[in-house]
Amino acid sequence: MKTIGLIGGMSWESTVNYYKHINEIVKQQLGGFHSAKCILYSVDFQEIEECQSRGDWDKSGEILAAAALSLEQAGADYIVICTNTMHKVIDIIQRDITIPILHIAEATAEALLKHNIKKVALLGTKYTMQQDFYKSKLTEAALEVIIPEADDIEMINFTIYQELCLGIISEKSRKEFLRIIDSLALLGAEGVILGCTEIGLLVRQEDTFVPLFDTTLIHATQAAMIAIVG
Ligand code: GLU
Repeated sequence: MKTIGLIGGMSWESTVNYYKHINEIVKQQLGGFHSAKCILYSVDFQEIEECQSRGDWDKSGEILAAAALSLEQAGADYIVICTNTMHKVIDIIQRDITIPILHIAEATAEALLKHNIKKVALLGTKYTMQQDFYKSKLTEAALEVIIPEADDIEMINFTIYQELCLGIISEKSRKEFLRIIDSLALLGAEGVILGCTEIGLLVRQEDTFVPLFDTTLIHATQAAMIAIVG
């Protein structure tokens, strides 16, 4: 079995689910006492969030690059960055290591294509929804991507940073997210990407008929399957 290197802590609330899901997949596939070989480097999210807020993406990339190098030196075969947003600096993180990084948006695009989705809505932080670093991976896979309107982008971003990353799960926010998901489906979205690793803590498939693509589960499943079958 290969060894997975996880860069987590962004936030730790969602990293817990990566760890859990990776182990569940390995157990399901191999049975017995099998569990995943993995190394977790969990950063202090306060430092990362401060870099985001002041627009110092290079600095945040360097912090994560140092984590990636530690994971490589500790024996990881590949890296999983447990957040969508920080894929913005994947090139900096990849720079000093020789092992590959599994890109969360590429894994998600693959899952969408398998389900024959052509037009998809993207929910995530304002960076993920509004900037190009993430959406470009989806459009390169010939997917049409739509995002919520401006007020809803603010609401989603606020909920991620002021609630979900702090472990707060609110019924009011769940209802708002479901309203936004419905509005995007009315605009023709055949599926909705939960493109922030905490959104799955708030909204689940059983809450809606619109197909949801939870990036935490997609990314963790890919990481586990590569560990087992290559
Ligand atoms: N975990 C989130 C994501 O998937 C947001 C936290 C962060 O800024 O990394 O984008």
